[in-house]
Amino acid sequence: MFSLPNLLVLAAVYRGPLKITVEQVDAPQIDEGEVLIRVRAVGVCPTDVKIYKRGSNSVRSPIVLGHEVSGEVVESKDPAFQVGTRVNVAADAPCLTCSNCRRGLENICTSMLSIGMNVDGAYAEMMRVPREFLDRGLVLPLPDEVSWEEGALIEPVAVSLHALSLVRPRSQDLVVVVGDGPNALIHVKLLKGVFGVRKLVVVGMKDHRLRAAMDFGADRVIRVNELENESNSLLNEGVDVLDLTVSNRESVAEAMSLMTSGTRMVIFGGATLDVPLHVSANKVHYGQLTLTGSTGTTVNEYREAHRLLSGRKVDLRGLVSHRFSLSEVKKALEFAESQEGLKSVVIP
Ligand SMILES: [Zn+2]
Ligand SMILES: [Zn+2]
Repeated sequence: MFSLPNLLVLAAVYRGPLKITVEQVDAPQIDEGEVLIRVRAVGVCPTDVKIYKRGSNSVRSPIVLGHEVSGEVVESKDPAFQVGTRVNVAADAPCLTCSNCRRGLENICTSMLSIGMNVDGAYAEMMRVPREFLDRGLVLPLPDEVSWEEGALIEPVAVSLHALSLVRPRSQDLVVVVGDGPNALIHVKLLKGVFGVRKLVVVGMKDHRLRAAMDFGADRVIRVNELENESNSLLNEGVDVLDLTVSNRESVAEAMSLMTSGTRMVIFGGATLDVPLHVSANKVHYGQLTLTGSTGTTVNEYREAHRLLSGRKVDLRGLVSHRFSLSEVKKALEFAESQEGLKSVVIP
């Protein structure tokens, strides 16, 4: 019988901006209550691209990035998980005891265990799943009919659900999604398929992504450079929800110009260079505006995302447009940044 701990496996090791090498490392060892998975698909997340390009203070180094993961249990020290089980693993495990967690803000836990940030992630053949993830119900089985790629999309669905829930989209609402990246396309599916909003407009830059937004259920798409001509009709109709999936200087300015009475705005995408918001207190007061940000997700929303995706209540087949091998991780990250294609995955 071979013993896994002596096995060498391939992993893409990150050592700082632009430094990723695919190398042979010892297979991760697991403790009681943990499982080891053979990674089958990893979604390339904009966060990975940011870390790869510019680094991040919240990332330990060296580390293996990649937190949108599906895989197969190959070793188990948790009786609830048999070898061979197909699973998705959440990206983050909150401590549930810090002051944020106690206030119901477990998505911004101050002692978060985060895969690909302070726990080795999934751009690797094998990944250890720490006990905290298993104890908190953050590892869930995938039905056979859900592909590895689809399974890896549960995490972006969960963070999207969190953001959208904060602005409570209603069936009569006009919603404007700013941005046309893979997360924006997931928002389109959720806004139409789960929240059932009346009218959904996507503002973006890339024709192929705007076409995909229409395929995914958007009622209208507007190219950024045509927004000025269209904004009056949107303002007259009244934008109920503004969903910023990107928050660079231009997109923030565009979004602010669409705020009208009663608009509820959520900032979902983080800004690489921070952008100040200019809005008058009276506009917020007399216009009854809501502004919120969103990051991460909660345990319940993760479980809800798993339910929606594994029952195909949110059908994301068609979102993954490009696939890369583990040795092509850098290429995959560069490709995701280029905004070609839709969603990329790495198949280790
Ligand atoms: Zn992600
Ligand atoms: Zn906490």
